[in-house]
Amino acid sequence: MSIEELARENVRRLTPYQSARRLGGNGDVWLNANEFPTAVAFDLSQQTLNRYPECQPKAVIENYAQYAGVKPEQVLVSRGADEGIELLIRAFCEPGKDAVLYCQPTYGMYSVSAETFGVACRNVLALDDWQLDLPTIADNLDGVKVIFVCSPNNPTGQLINPQDIRTLLEMTRGKALVVADEAYIEFCPQATLAGWLEEYPNLVVLRTLSKAFALAGLRCGFTLANKEVIDLLMKVIAPYPLSTPVADIAAQALAPQGINAMRERVAQILVERQYLVSALKTLPCVEQVFESETNYILVRFTASSAIFKSLWDQGIILRDQNKQPSLSGCLRITVGTREESQHVIDALKAEKV
Ligand code: PMP
Repeated sequence: MSIEELARENVRRLTPYQSARRLGGNGDVWLNANEFPTAVAFDLSQQTLNRYPECQPKAVIENYAQYAGVKPEQVLVSRGADEGIELLIRAFCEPGKDAVLYCQPTYGMYSVSAETFGVACRNVLALDDWQLDLPTIADNLDGVKVIFVCSPNNPTGQLINPQDIRTLLEMTRGKALVVADEAYIEFCPQATLAGWLEEYPNLVVLRTLSKAFALAGLRCGFTLANKEVIDLLMKVIAPYPLSTPVADIAAQALAPQGINAMRERVAQILVERQYLVSALKTLPCVEQVFESETNYILVRFTASSAIFKSLWDQGIILRDQNKQPSLSGCLRITVGTREESQHVIDALKAEKV
């Protein structure tokens, strides 16, 4: 048997997630991963690398609980929100029997994680306005254990109607978890569903330090849920999910000073987003600029593939969304610095329509 044949069938069939870093590119304007454009400095205060770290570092959990307005027992910290997605599928979905459900266009890791674990995927396409198609979801809930709802949604940038999420939570009570992926919630903090945890035992909220906290390289994310859910996730999590330096820096980022700095960064990004949106709307190669509640903008172009490649060749790296259902002609642009926005606009101005 070849090594390839030794591998699990679903892994052999799997198309891995095309992360921004794996896609590569050469350039100096990186607007394809929704990162914060500049680095934030931190000190390493823990010099105890001879010891294993705490599984759930107390300072990180307590600081995050305070920040999110939940109880420490409702918080789990992991290697990015991506590990939270994995843990939920591993703890709740029986391979070959249960399914996860999501509504494309949306974040790609829900399907990749499910496929990796041999769990079926049910994709109920979003409506034309990218809101939830509740009747079709209701017809497709058989065997579904976990429903992922990304709000604000990546890559479309808009919030999912909270009333629809409420309906979904009611519809699935006692049957499935509804996971609200709030990776970008800091850019529209009033929209969080964290306050609903008391009301819904089947609600889960995913968060991350990768976006507004400017710490994508740290790999640190959070799952907020009621204690029953957290206890189950704790059964399947790795013994030491965060390294000591990660926990050290995360605790600093979540201290009051760190939270204030994050809020200032968000204010700066919202100003830059407005600038970029206004400029994009004046360009002949732009067909439509979609409303965004996040640090990225989805844009439909007249000739998106040619534009994507032309900018790529100039070292301006955007994210191509052409292959997602209902997103033909669309590219996603992360809001960076004013200088980076200017580079994009200048390059787009030079494009032939
Ligand atoms: N959810 C969404 C919607 C995202 O865009 C991302 C980042 N690509 C993640 C989750 C994963 O975040 P993390 O870096 O914390 O793994």
